[in-house]
Amino acid sequence: MSSADQPNSHTAALLPELLRAVAVALEENAEAVAELDRAIGDGDHLVNLRRGIDALRARGDELAGMDWPSAWQQIGMTLMTTVGGASGSLYGTLFVTMGKTARGRELTLETLADSFGAGVEAVKRRGRVEPGEKTLVDVLDPVAKALVRLAQVEAPLPRLVEELGQVAEAGMESTRDLVATKGRASFLGERSRGWIDPGAKTAQLMIAAVGQALVA
Ligand code: ADP
Ligand code: MG
Repeated sequence: MSSADQPNSHTAALLPELLRAVAVALEENAEAVAELDRAIGDGDHLVNLRRGIDALRARGDELAGMDWPSAWQQIGMTLMTTVGGASGSLYGTLFVTMGKTARGRELTLETLADSFGAGVEAVKRRGRVEPGEKTLVDVLDPVAKALVRLAQVEAPLPRLVEELGQVAEAGMESTRDLVATKGRASFLGERSRGWIDPGAKTAQLMIAAVGQALVA
């Protein structure tokens, strides 16, 4: 890889490749996600995410030329305006806050951890949600905390990707036994138990896809 292609380089040159990896992972798991969303959602979660990813990929070259904080902010605004549903405003909030937090700072692992952490806190405020309520926050929150810990020890990329992948998977699995108290699944009460939250599932798939693309 040339230095311009490194994940910590100044511009978001890797973004089109990461978006492609995310799109592939969602399509490969589309039936599994659809099953969960039919069971405890309203069946539109994949459609929502696809709309957002298509809108981002249409702007891929433009975003790739930006510095990462600007790209994150633009990703967030694009998601807010193109994706319906809870997930659009939540992921929009995540990326806009990441962009604001990282603005003007050198992009180090510490900056990434700070920015992602601030983004996840903003998602929690926006969704009025804490971990344990059977949402995508059950994946994002432990991943944010693990990222801070791994940044402190300056973990090398392969270890970072592996550990974050495991944390995301454990968070996703943890939603199976929870009763939903936020979002549409909360209308089902006790009957939401026994299913993985679709938003937690797609969060885990996207984190794993980005990680694998970074170490590939
Ligand atoms: P909608 O719920 O509006 O149909 P989506 O289907 O795109 O939106 O997304 C559903 C996912 O969004 C859920 O599986 C859950 O993970 C997440 N979610 C819903 N409400 C909240 C909330 N208040 N806070 C955090 N996450 C939420
Ligand atoms: Mg839905």
